[in-house]
Amino acid sequence: MKYQDLKRVNDSFGEELFNTVRDVIKGGWYVQGREVELFEHEFAEYVGTKYCVGVGNGLDALTLVLMSWKELLGWNDGDEVILPANTFIATAIAVFRAGLVPVLTEPHTQNATIDESLLPSLITEKTRAIIPVHMYGKMCEMDVINKLAKKHNLKVLEDACQAHGAIYNSYNGLELSSLFGKRAGNNADAGSFSFYPGKNLGGIGDGGAITTNDADLAEMVRMKANYGSKEKYVHSVMGVNSRLDEIQAAVLRVKLRRLDSDNIRRREIAKYYTEHICHPAIELLPFTNDGSHVYHVYAVKCKNRDYLRDILKKNGIDTIIHYPTPIHKQDAFKNELKRLNIDKTYVLPVSETWGNDELSIPISQSMADSDVMKVVDCINQNIF
Ligand SMILES: *Cc1c(COP(=O)(O)O)cnc(C)c1O
Repeated sequence: MKYQDLKRVNDSFGEELFNTVRDVIKGGWYVQGREVELFEHEFAEYVGTKYCVGVGNGLDALTLVLMSWKELLGWNDGDEVILPANTFIATAIAVFRAGLVPVLTEPHTQNATIDESLLPSLITEKTRAIIPVHMYGKMCEMDVINKLAKKHNLKVLEDACQAHGAIYNSYNGLELSSLFGKRAGNNADAGSFSFYPGKNLGGIGDGGAITTNDADLAEMVRMKANYGSKEKYVHSVMGVNSRLDEIQAAVLRVKLRRLDSDNIRRREIAKYYTEHICHPAIELLPFTNDGSHVYHVYAVKCKNRDYLRDILKKNGIDTIIHYPTPIHKQDAFKNELKRLNIDKTYVLPVSETWGNDELSIPISQSMADSDVMKVVDCINQNIF
């Protein structure tokens, strides 16, 4: 059993994906065309923001927002951005690429989202922004983070690369509905998305987008993603080439229509796992049923993680570790700090425990019930 069978996911669309790709090829227009424009409208409407700008990938979506704020707000090189140490390296690389300095902090122990209670102690004169990462598809405590940011005049950028479709505050005590809450990407000053094939909304190659209600930011990101240009051959700011292409946009438009039902299926699988996995060596995370978790990853914690992983592998079940090495332990990060003459040693035991104990078991909208049960049985029947 694959960790995630992308062929099965995409095959389930029948001829629809082939037809839309064929139409793009036959249309003869491959970047900055109608499909991207339509996708940007549809995704903005879905997320609930005024603007969406398609870009090349998730890393660029993060980088371009930071670069744009730096340009618009006059931030300096070396200004600081707070983010969790247990995220994918892209979040930290984006900060460095924008000429800013990542300041790392801890996640919670019971779920992998940033521990908002630690944030006040990290804010300095140089702090400009916070990047809450909706790790594994679970949304961070945005109300608390936004309130703090407002108090200190900081920007908040949601790293929503794992949380397409998640809804914060979607439960009114009786009903679950997107009417009550806001989608990931619409809970802060801006949101960044990746459409890497394995994400909850994934293309057939790289892709990304930013969402925001801020017209100036949207315009600056659009310029910077296109060589700093709004008008052809007029370059008013420094830029890069990072554009969503027509084929990806066309595929994403088809797949966006199923995102909500895909996320419901993921949540159903997560519920089954949480109710049925029962093993003395395995710690399950509390199940979240209120829409604020779209289960991009189903994470369990196990002190014997590598042993558990071997057992599953021997039974034909693939797993992944998200992520074995926290950012402060990565050479790329340490060397970059050194290069910037920043002498700082991080001690982040909660992040390290996640790195040591976390195992992601198979989860995907295309998983059959029998596969889900097989994973449960395999875990429960093995004594260690
Ligand atoms: C996938 C991911 C990214 C980067 O996305 P790419 O499209 O691969 O560049 C950034 N942050 C998080 C949390 C991610 O999971």
